[in-house]
Amino acid sequence: MLKSPPLCVPDYIWSAKLNDNNTVFQAELTALHEAVIYAFHLPNHNTSKIHVDNRASIMASSNSKSTNETARKIFKILLTNPSIKVSWVKPHAGNIGNERADQLAKDATQHGQPYSHTKLPKPHIKGLLRKRMPEEWQTSWKNGDTGRKIFNIMPSVSLRPINWIREDVIFFSQHEPFPAYLKRFHLSDSDYCSCGGIGTALHYAMECIYTVSWHMRKPAPNFEQERLKRVANNFRLQAENSWDYQIH
Ligand SMILES: [Zn+2]
Repeated sequence: MLKSPPLCVPDYIWSAKLNDNNTVFQAELTALHEAVIYAFHLPNHNTSKIHVDNRASIMASSNSKSTNETARKIFKILLTNPSIKVSWVKPHAGNIGNERADQLAKDATQHGQPYSHTKLPKPHIKGLLRKRMPEEWQTSWKNGDTGRKIFNIMPSVSLRPINWIREDVIFFSQHEPFPAYLKRFHLSDSDYCSCGGIGTALHYAMECIYTVSWHMRKPAPNFEQERLKRVANNFRLQAENSWDYQIH
């Protein structure tokens, strides 16, 4: 990509090495941007023609609403400087300027000046964030000092929803409107339930005489039967396996 007529040896060359995570498209646009800037600084009477063998970068640079920032910059310069023209040239067709540009690009991948003005591509940044954010989240969850009740139940962070309803949150976090919580946050002088026990969520769920009808219960008898059957079946399977083992 050079500012030069197709058959002439270029009077100005520029090359650079982008970050390994930059895309070929970004490299094409960066080079075109440099060429356009160069042409822009030439004396006014000069008409410049920039030969580009990459259609995608020409398309992007002729779109004022391109999502690519470099492409929009090129568009702006071209719009206000009609003396700078961009045209497509067939690649690998013996065009001296084009061949020279290819060679410069190849050399730059080895010993080019590092060029860091081109932003890294979005998918790359997204990938980095997708990896880094959970790590940081996990570290602060592990080392934090709030929400420790939940941390003891769920030490690992995850983006998967746990589908807790409000009551679950209240119960597991023990941020419940019960005496123990109210005392902890100095909203009450006493953490006692009126039954005499300590008023925690577990107290109301399992032992308080005033909430007996809501207590967590042992499995209903028919389920108990099922459970015993399953245990018995496991025993039988284990016995069979050891029997097999003996006759072999
Ligand atoms: Zn009670």
